Amino acid sequence: MGRESYSLHIFFFPFLSHGHMIPMVDMAKLFASRGVKSTIVTTPVNASLISKAIGKSKTHNNNNIHIETIEFPCSKAGLPEGCENGDLIPSPDKFPVFFLATRLLQEPFEKLLLQHKPDCVVADVFFPWATDSASMVGIPRIVFNGTGLFSMCAIECMRLYEPQKNVSSDSEPFVIPNLPGEIKMLRTQLPPASITGETNPLTEFFKEANESEGECYGVVVNSFYELESVYADYSRNGLGRKAWLIGPLSLCNKDTEEKSQRGKDASIDENECLKWLDTKKPNSVVYICFGSIANFEDSQLREIALGLEASGQDFIWVVKNNKKEGESKEEWLLEGFEKRMEGTGLIIRGWAPQVLILGHQAIGAFVTHCGWNSTLEGVAAGVPMVTWPMGAEQFYNEKLVTEVLKIGVPVGVKKWARMDKVSVEWEAIEKAVKKIMVGEETEEMRMKANVLSQLANAAVENGGSSYSDLGALIHELLSLRH
Ligand code: UDP
Repeated sequence: MGRESYSLHIFFFPFLSHGHMIPMVDMAKLFASRGVKSTIVTTPVNASLISKAIGKSKTHNNNNIHIETIEFPCSKAGLPEGCENGDLIPSPDKFPVFFLATRLLQEPFEKLLLQHKPDCVVADVFFPWATDSASMVGIPRIVFNGTGLFSMCAIECMRLYEPQKNVSSDSEPFVIPNLPGEIKMLRTQLPPASITGETNPLTEFFKEANESEGECYGVVVNSFYELESVYADYSRNGLGRKAWLIGPLSLCNKDTEEKSQRGKDASIDENECLKWLDTKKPNSVVYICFGSIANFEDSQLREIALGLEASGQDFIWVVKNNKKEGESKEEWLLEGFEKRMEGTGLIIRGWAPQVLILGHQAIGAFVTHCGWNSTLEGVAAGVPMVTWPMGAEQFYNEKLVTEVLKIGVPVGVKKWARMDKVSVEWEAIEKAVKKIMVGEETEEMRMKANVLSQLANAAVENGGSSYSDLGALIHELLSLRH
């Protein structure tokens, strides 16, 4: 590994949710491996998760990686004590409260900046105020947006041209203007506020976050050039964004321990899980997981169970803890389901060691909600996907996977429903799973996914595109300092 800079010091400040913290911790590890002193700023509850994830990196990288904690005043914000992460929010109505409360981090963050005087801040897009904080101490602020460049470009084109306003019905598709690839969407696949024009503190918050992206020094992206070259070029030349593509970040985790220590403690012993997979043939198991936040109603979980059983495929299914308080059994669990599926299906209740599972040769497909981390982890592992987007920018990621990269099939969701349940019936699940596992196009998709996996791995190797982009960024930051 190159060690470009022994003295550069960067603050990494991820948003308080696993989908943002996990890649940014990987990013800090990556910078540390190139000789940069990396400090992750977070709150106490998240610090204990992160300290496990960086354990190994600390010894490997000359103690170059550190954590600094700042308090998140939950009760002042109207949140339960300890509610410091998106997955701890007690009910959907508290989401806006949580997002807006993160502004309270500005003051303690600025105190830390003054105390440590780093050379640069890489702060999450959801901390738009961090640009002012960085300029207060005279250093550049780089944004980490958490998504890929295809969706960033799509969102910017949508913001500029608002094509959804020119269609007269929910079923009339529109093309995203100026975005390469003739990408068609339905207006129901967008957040409702972008159609109604409604504004509230949360829509203002996201608007501000979007705008701050254009005002910062540049953007670091968890992606690699070969995956989205058309959109990387468009972003740089067409939209004038300064972007460094330095991913897939998950690939910085090399061994079983590192791969299974991302995010929360896994709810299954990783060796048990690998042993189960070892008994299966290559490409014969479907992995189903919907990220760190999305939760389904019992009725939707039952549809998934029926669909999986009908597909006849082996599976690992990650189910968030859905047992309501006071319930003695899981209402969603079909009578006798686990018994019938013994040997065929493994249910992980809670948190799965996702990157470890995806990297096993037995995994043949991934049913995903198209969160960007999951999508890219699927790409890096060379696994075709069934796409089941729910909210955020996930509908754009679905387009990238199914129409641009052509390594997935949609389950057929037409409606954006942030943190809500989207009803997909078991027949559609069965059909999509069969199509991805044993359909006519399976082999072709698998081949394409394999090529992308090879390109992903090459990109992060010495001399690869992401390796070089990271080196270029470090040199630029050093030259700014001198
Ligand atoms: N993840 C995991 N185990 C789980 C659920 C999620 O390791 O059981 C990880 C996953 O590998 C990814 C992140 O959590 O790195 C989820 O991020 P993503 O962007 O896919 O979705 P989000 O959680 O933000 O909706």
